[in-house]
Amino acid sequence: MGTIDGLPPLREVIRAHDLVARKQLGQNFLLDLNLTAKIARAAGDLSASDVLEVGPGPGGLTRGLLAEGARRVVAVEKDARALPALAEIAASCPGRLEVLHGDALELDLAAHLTPPVKIVANLPYNIGTELLIRWLTPRDWPPMWSSLTLMFQKEVAERIVAKPKGEHYGRLALLAQYRCEARIVMTLPPEAFTPAPKVHSAVVQLTALPEPRYPCDFGLLQRITAMAFNQRRKMLRASLKALHPDVETVLASVGIPPTARAEEIGLEQFCALARVVAAKG
Ligand code: SAM
Repeated sequence: MGTIDGLPPLREVIRAHDLVARKQLGQNFLLDLNLTAKIARAAGDLSASDVLEVGPGPGGLTRGLLAEGARRVVAVEKDARALPALAEIAASCPGRLEVLHGDALELDLAAHLTPPVKIVANLPYNIGTELLIRWLTPRDWPPMWSSLTLMFQKEVAERIVAKPKGEHYGRLALLAQYRCEARIVMTLPPEAFTPAPKVHSAVVQLTALPEPRYPCDFGLLQRITAMAFNQRRKMLRASLKALHPDVETVLASVGIPPTARAEEIGLEQFCALARVVAAKG
């Protein structure tokens, strides 16, 4: 049976290039090109964007992105064994795929991209959260990317989109939702991957807002949420004691009961708290 792009099926590619998955590189491959095209579609219209993909591996998602009409794909892969397979894809669509060999945490990826940029990736689980935090905390906002469409372990995806009072709610949800729209757009069972991981996975779509949802000093917001959630079982009057000599009055001024715990407080109230603390010096 033919493939969407006329290139060999991924199982053949893996066999031909001896791409046995390596656990230490977080390699769980997607081999169904219909599925990778579906993930690419979740990122919306790609025809006017450069797409950054971290960890293309044998190229299933890369091929999905190209088949769905990405203007250009820049794919960064640490595993040299995958480079010949990726070179074959690049040769099939001249000028549309640039492959970078190296560590996504080390390379200056922005230098290879022309805005608008969308980031789409089935991330290696061991560096997924670190990459996300970097993308959410650039020096300037709006960031160089307009959206992130990222596969995570389902539990991490739930932490990104969590709301107050839920078991997954914490700093990652606040960081993500402070200046992004975040939602889960797809969940996948372990069998969707080769080899199958132990857990379910989910694709999260994060769209950058032009400005933060509520105004406040971002550094102070991060400091407050770190204090609050590092002792998440404690009442805020205790966990935030070091914030201000009269922390109970500060909390009351934004409508937070001093006995409340971090997991009960939404982003809007945390931002209000940061504003009051900033104003009180
Ligand atoms: N995109 C492919 C797919 O969906 O089938 C592979 C995804 S696999 C979960 C993660 C990929 O990231 C692997 O190809 C792995 O070699 C690569 N990788 C791991 N660590 C990396 C790093 N630090 N920088 C770039 N790529 C990395």
